[in-house]
Amino acid sequence: MSELIQKLRENQNLTEEEFKKILSCEEYDEDLRQNADAVRREQYGNQVYLRGLIEFTNYCKNNCYYCGIRRDNRNVSRYRLTQDEILECCREGYALGFRTFVLQGGEDPYFTDQRVCSIVSAIHQEFPDCAITLSMGEKSFESYLAYFQAGAERYLLRHETASPEHYGKLHPAEMSCRNRQECLFHLKKIGYQVGAGIMVGSPYQTLDHIIEDLRFLQKLQPQMIGIGPFLSHQDTPFRNEKNGELKLTLRLLSVLRLMFPKVLLPATTALGTVHPLGREMGLKAGANVIMPNLSPTSVRKKYMLYDNKICTGDESAQCRQCTERRAASIGYEVVTDRGDAKDFRRE
Ligand code: SAH
Repeated sequence: MSELIQKLRENQNLTEEEFKKILSCEEYDEDLRQNADAVRREQYGNQVYLRGLIEFTNYCKNNCYYCGIRRDNRNVSRYRLTQDEILECCREGYALGFRTFVLQGGEDPYFTDQRVCSIVSAIHQEFPDCAITLSMGEKSFESYLAYFQAGAERYLLRHETASPEHYGKLHPAEMSCRNRQECLFHLKKIGYQVGAGIMVGSPYQTLDHIIEDLRFLQKLQPQMIGIGPFLSHQDTPFRNEKNGELKLTLRLLSVLRLMFPKVLLPATTALGTVHPLGREMGLKAGANVIMPNLSPTSVRKKYMLYDNKICTGDESAQCRQCTERRAASIGYEVVTDRGDAKDFRRE
């Protein structure tokens, strides 16, 4: 085994120079992958956790340069799911074995705290054995607290990049790196299991930025880390930017598994979009979560964060079966428990 990978596995840390070497050279890839898979097996065996993704609104007040549902994209046909429609997705998901529901959407002012809490408590009441995850952007401490008290236990909010300078190149001036990071610390303080993360290969991203991201993650200690390649969308200012690389994404997944042995790492939809077997490769590189789509088929094409997004023509049941098949094809087993983070303790 290469000394560098051994050191990373033992210390769960490296110097900046060492991280740079691993992230920029192919020669470590095989070693990195094998060790990441070994650590993942020590922690989670061959199990893959499921999260059912419900894309409940594509209205957004933000204008992130990379995102297909940004405010200024006039070509999006906007939709919102009603509380009943969301519950219907959960019922379908429950029957398919999902025990985590992720409500993701743009930052849509229609969904006031009252509406969000009403939806969360309705899901919580009907499915007390399920975890509710929210992914709806930056809110106040009070709002996050209210959702938590209504029954949400997890929150996904990628920090996108830990570098304020890089953040400023991906977002308009009214958005701030600091506020986003503060939100993550608020969420942790309230007691959520928190997911942070980045897009790999986003425009202007350098290896130094990625290392800053690793340092930020060490500080935050999230329960989940969501990473996927940046993929361009034709109706955004980044339409001509190059897509993120599969190889670097896989490398980074393995580095994250070695740095954070117990973390939940999804093999994301973006990874499955950049390569037909991207998610399988992600699992083999250390990922242990898949988030199949549970949104009604009628709205799926409207939640286009990037071009060519996969699974937009499928039914939930198809996505569920497809996930099972893909995991099994490489020797992993999809399980239907809530899949809480191993190191998570409620205070
Ligand atoms: N409004 C929510 C949900 C955003 S969508 C929020 O602010 O958190 C979820 C994630 O998709 C984003 O955090 C971003 O990292 C990713 N994403 C958005 N556009 C993308 C693109 N063009 N390519 C790859 N990932 C993208």
